[in-house]
Amino acid sequence: AQVRELVESKLATIPDFPEPGVVFRDLTPVFADGPAFHALSEALTTPFAGRFDHLAGVEARGFLLAGAASVLCGAGVLPVRKAGKLPRAVLREEYDLEYGSAALEVHEGELAPAARVLIVDDVLATGGTALAAARLIERAGWQVAGISVAIELDALGGRARLDDRYDVRSLLQY
Ligand code: IMP
Repeated sequence: AQVRELVESKLATIPDFPEPGVVFRDLTPVFADGPAFHALSEALTTPFAGRFDHLAGVEARGFLLAGAASVLCGAGVLPVRKAGKLPRAVLREEYDLEYGSAALEVHEGELAPAARVLIVDDVLATGGTALAAARLIERAGWQVAGISVAIELDALGGRARLDDRYDVRSLLQY
């Protein structure tokens, strides 16, 4: 509860960004605050203790959270990158956005077979991003240990798309 209050006290809420009608949740003031960033990074992995070997951070804010959390818990990081950034052979997963589509990639063979991977990101909205990351991990031959986000936007239905197959946790819900 203390961690939630600390993170919530730093969180910024921006109406009508990036377009009218959208309420954007911005964690950059949390990243800027040492104790709040530390507490958030720790809280993301605590519910999954003993159940994962690696943290998958989704570009770009997920990189910050996975990187910080990895140092605290001792797990390695798998960068889940936007298309075209990784230099070796990749697996690619395309997914729909509200307008258009996007793709995420991982290096094939980056982790050992059956490695247990916890997906980390800042915000869960429709769940499309987390689902694409989960599919990549499974197609690569690894296991999804769960999905851990700082913020879950309840009205956008991400949990319903994910929680029949994955353990989904969020620190704050709106
Ligand atoms: P989804 O794929 O619809 O679940 O959207 C989640 C992705 O979009 C995450 O990678 C987030 O970083 C980003 N995102 C969606 N809504 C917000 C928001 O309000 N604030 C910050 N990032 C968001």
